[in-house]
Amino acid sequence: MFNLVIFGPPGSGKGTQSEKLIEKYRLVHLSTGDLLRAEIANKTPLGIEAKKFIDNGQLVPDEVVIGIIDNSLEKNKEAKGFLFDGFPRTVTQAKALDKLLELKHTVINLVVSLQVSEAELVKRLLNRGITSGRSDDTNVEVIRKRFAVYEKETSPVAEHYNKQEKLSPMQGGNTIDDTFHSICKVIENVLV
Ligand code: AMP
Repeated sequence: MFNLVIFGPPGSGKGTQSEKLIEKYRLVHLSTGDLLRAEIANKTPLGIEAKKFIDNGQLVPDEVVIGIIDNSLEKNKEAKGFLFDGFPRTVTQAKALDKLLELKHTVINLVVSLQVSEAELVKRLLNRGITSGRSDDTNVEVIRKRFAVYEKETSPVAEHYNKQEKLSPMQGGNTIDDTFHSICKVIENVLV
């Protein structure tokens, strides 16, 4: 199995790169943001609860997203590997993921951390908001709040993986294809 985490602040290109990576490496894409938005679209009790946090730029509680990931791993027992996108976002989630994978006799192999300047991130998110209809991408206040939450709660996750010697920081401000090629190079070094 090959399990990859794509890590970075909102707007760093995680979703865009994930689409290309799952196709090339045949991984199962687990995006907690997408899974939560599906719950919202289906108006499930979980979705209705999660929407309040998302619209406010806050993280959805750890136990909710860990439960979603646990279910998704169970549903995809035949997977060759997983691409975790937007998860883990807290050290608690990272530790829970290590445990869930250990139960399945597998591990995270690589964490690609996309680095993009804050000015570029704001520009990208506001642009995405115009077309995606994502309520959390249209309001600059909510975007700034998400960056603050990222700094405080999510950036320590990089250190969790750095200690495990799995972290690969990467420039994410170049073109989509340039970033994709850089990620593929790192993956291929790990796969050999
Ligand atoms: P994303 O599509 O990854 O940008 O996620 C959109 C929003 O969903 C985030 O701003 C959070 O409110 C929520 N969310 C997504 N993934 C997680 C996670 N792993 N932990 C907590 N909240 C999350």
